[in-house]
Amino acid sequence: MESHNITLIPGDGIGPELTDATRRVLEATGVKFNWDIVHAGTDVMAEYGTPLPQHVLDSIRKNKVALKGPITTPVGSGFRSVNVALRKELELYCCLRPCKSYAGTPTLYNDVDIVVVRENMEDLYAGIEFEKGSADAGRLISFLGELGANVRPDSGISIKPLSEFGCRRIVRFAFEYARANKRRKVTAVHKANIMKFSDGLFLAISRELAQSYHEIEFEDRIVDNMTMQLVKKPQQFDVLVCPNLYGDIISDLCAGLVGGLGVAPGANLGDGIALFEPTHGSAPKYKGMNKANPMAMMLSGVLMLRHINETAAADKVEKAIAAVIADGQNVTYDLKRDGEQCNAIGTAQVADAIIDVMHKMP
Ligand code: NAD
Repeated sequence: MESHNITLIPGDGIGPELTDATRRVLEATGVKFNWDIVHAGTDVMAEYGTPLPQHVLDSIRKNKVALKGPITTPVGSGFRSVNVALRKELELYCCLRPCKSYAGTPTLYNDVDIVVVRENMEDLYAGIEFEKGSADAGRLISFLGELGANVRPDSGISIKPLSEFGCRRIVRFAFEYARANKRRKVTAVHKANIMKFSDGLFLAISRELAQSYHEIEFEDRIVDNMTMQLVKKPQQFDVLVCPNLYGDIISDLCAGLVGGLGVAPGANLGDGIALFEPTHGSAPKYKGMNKANPMAMMLSGVLMLRHINETAAADKVEKAIAAVIADGQNVTYDLKRDGEQCNAIGTAQVADAIIDVMHKMP
């Protein structure tokens, strides 16, 4: 049997515990992995002088597939997010976040099946920022003044670029994904009524590309209305395509619709490279407590298995996770109903329960 070369980045905070649990479940499928375990984040700063050492990028470029735990971005340290840097360095332009209800999850809805397709490179996450009071902010403000745009001199400024190239690439991805996965509808999310030249461009390109996919229904929603409709009637939505910032917020909202961050997986995809990671962060308050839910990372592993064409193994892990959720006994605190949290089990024990179910499967 072929062995798959995969870069494994355990991350920090709750990352290493989730990675350990996920790895055990993935290996229990019988699929063979050659894990190249590499580390990134503040913990490696002292050793390598950077939170994202070159050998981490080299490993991902070589293996083309990576599985990653969350990595902390310290607030106000001047150190940019490793997560954002990885997506940029590797040109992982699409963040795919499926949000699907599993029976037995304590939520308001039991029939949500939404896939968020988020643009990952542009928008307010492009990292083009000017600090209040800096010389560059001053120069930019004077230049804008010359163009007739008055910005207060005591402003901090973040720039929102959306390119035709970037919009086309992500919208095309959303339609191609919908076609390949037999999804019925694509909804473009924007605020084109206010940001006419950035979100307006995104909307115009979405409408244009929709013409080439007649079998897929297309609609658009203004982002504020979108959030209200998602909470009110999420079942009406299927694939959502969003510029970076709205995609970030909406994917957490959709995670909440299906039971929270503990069950929300993700994939960062580029041309030929794929990095799989849960939507959630490193939840530092739960670090080392054997408390966090490993299912989001395991479901990211399921996406990875599908990506490497290990479909039977992917189905097996997903079915076992669904069975454990439906049974409701062997789940972490976040999947227990109010008042039942004291019966929650730990991260490692969830992995044991899932492996147990897999062993009993035909
Ligand atoms: P977070 O997602 O880490 O945690 C928010 C809350 O969600 C937690 O306090 C916890 O209550 C819950 N939660 C998250 N994951 C869970 C799990 N697996 N099981 C059960 N409950 C879970 O968000 P945050 O507190 O805003 O961020 C913490 C750090 O993570 C920050 O430094 C942030 O920059 C970083 N972050 C990293 C990534 C990434 O690695 N891709 C993504 C988001 C945030």
